[in-house]
Amino acid sequence: MMEKILIATKNPGKAREFKHLLGESYTVLTLLDIHFPHEIVEDGETFEENAKIKALAIARNFEGLVLADDSGLEVKALKGAPGVYSARYAGEPRDDLKNNQKLMLAMKGQEERAARFRCTLVLAAGEVVLGVFEGDCSGRILHEPVGDHGFGYDCLFWADGATEPFGRLSLDEKNKFSHRAKAMAQLREYLIGSRT
Ligand code: IMP
Repeated sequence: MMEKILIATKNPGKAREFKHLLGESYTVLTLLDIHFPHEIVEDGETFEENAKIKALAIARNFEGLVLADDSGLEVKALKGAPGVYSARYAGEPRDDLKNNQKLMLAMKGQEERAARFRCTLVLAAGEVVLGVFEGDCSGRILHEPVGDHGFGYDCLFWADGATEPFGRLSLDEKNKFSHRAKAMAQLREYLIGSRT
């Protein structure tokens, strides 16, 4: 029987990406598949702090491996914003469309368009953090949304070296560049090593 891994997210876009990246080796569950009654307050100041908070809050209540991801977009001209506040940049409840509109407004007339996505993954079991894995993806912010693939800020981001913006890439193509895929590659190495 395949080992289970629970991904600490309710975000359907992220869930799809994790299933795509891990699905052949693990039975992948997310918080959308189990009833998790507790509200997790992500009040860390870094991606790593938030990912640890999420991973441990769930691992304490789940038998098996738990993987938490905290990710976001850092825009150079905005001094790293929205950063850890990426999901709620335009306020609660989280709304991708409003976040993108706010970002476009903040970047209006701005020539410096450099930005990067960052992802920190934390793997935990019970009370223990087993590993921390990081990835980033540099690129630039577009002036207008392009394409309808992906989620979050994908429609406003063009990764360095890519032939199309994220909003037009298939998942396989996005994974050649994405912060999450890079962090996942490290995680996979760890998981392979821990099985041998
Ligand atoms: P959290 O990690 O669930 O707190 O949310 C991270 C937020 O960063 C998401 O809601 C998106 O707005 C943004 N984000 C993270 N990764 C990506 C990505 O791969 N594409 C587009 N937006 C992303």
